[in-house]
Amino acid sequence: MPQSSTLAPATVPSGDLVFYSEFDDFTVWKNALQAQLPTLRILQASEIADPARVHFSLAWKPPEGFFDEMSSLRLIINLGAGVDSLVGRRDLPAGVPITRLTDPHMARMMAGYVLFATLRYARDIPHFEQAQRRGEWAYRHPRSPEDIRVAVLGLGELGSYAANELQRQGLTVLGWSRQPRQLAGIQCFAGLDTLDMVLSQADILVVMLPLTPQTQGLLSREKLTRLPRGAALINVARGALIDQDAMTDLLNNGHLGAATLDVFTREPLPADHPLWRMDNVLITPHLASVAIPSSAAAQIAENILRASRGEQPNNQIDPLRGY
Ligand code: NDP
Repeated sequence: MPQSSTLAPATVPSGDLVFYSEFDDFTVWKNALQAQLPTLRILQASEIADPARVHFSLAWKPPEGFFDEMSSLRLIINLGAGVDSLVGRRDLPAGVPITRLTDPHMARMMAGYVLFATLRYARDIPHFEQAQRRGEWAYRHPRSPEDIRVAVLGLGELGSYAANELQRQGLTVLGWSRQPRQLAGIQCFAGLDTLDMVLSQADILVVMLPLTPQTQGLLSREKLTRLPRGAALINVARGALIDQDAMTDLLNNGHLGAATLDVFTREPLPADHPLWRMDNVLITPHLASVAIPSSAAAQIAENILRASRGEQPNNQIDPLRGY
């Protein structure tokens, strides 16, 4: 679907769309959506007078009870890729499909972050950053990329894109998912039985799994110690996938050489958390990738039209599976 053109007005959606996000700009999203669906009434949550008129929700982390009065909901659109804060809520209306954004521009932005963080380790940049602070010319001969093994846990929309980009850099890439996957040039493994083997081969571990009941705490102390001593960890998925206390200990005692962390069990990461003060840790405040209105509006509009016509929307998540 061309992103610049307005959708043909074959179906004019009835009912209102409610928008909620503490992190995203309502006006920008409204304008992007209105360009696709000029007749759709788009309101912020605070503007809703009659919740029964709301047919569509576009929301990121809405407060508990948000959906309580919305008796005519036809579609819940998660304003992001990860749906862990949505599934399992008590106020979700039964039978209303939930979709998430799977925007290639979002995947590209994520891959950019993962590439940066991985190449920073692959090219020993932290070593040179520290040497520069000491005013030292600390030559370290570059390693060949194929000698560096990068394991990507999660080969979904974001993980597979990032894994492909890493592979294009000549790195040796291993991938891990629930069901077997095939990605050219990447050694793919699936299932819990293979996790220890994948971890034991990872010089750099990139975590790109969704947070579900199966993956919560998956990277326990025991699993993290399967990594080779000195391995680097990059977590761009969710903090609760990893035992954060164990990770901090292992970063302290050198079993983990370094970490780039975009996500934490508690966000914002508390100011007194030891991770803030560790030289071998790079912290960013949960922004490895964000939803981009100009590229995501078309798929949202398409799903609103599909729901209006009584069709199944694209990019539905399975609430039982959790992703
Ligand atoms: P997808 O749902 O497309 O893919 C998830 C992948 O994880 C799939 O390969 C899936 O396996 C695998 N997986 C799920 N459960 C398991 C399991 N129990 N064991 C092994 N593998 C499993 O997700 P995305 O790629 O779109 O996104 C991944 C996560 O990234 C999101 O859930 C979100 O939490 C996070 N995220 C973070 C952002 C940030 O800014 N930091 C921004 C956007 C997303 P299979 O292929 O077999 O289904």
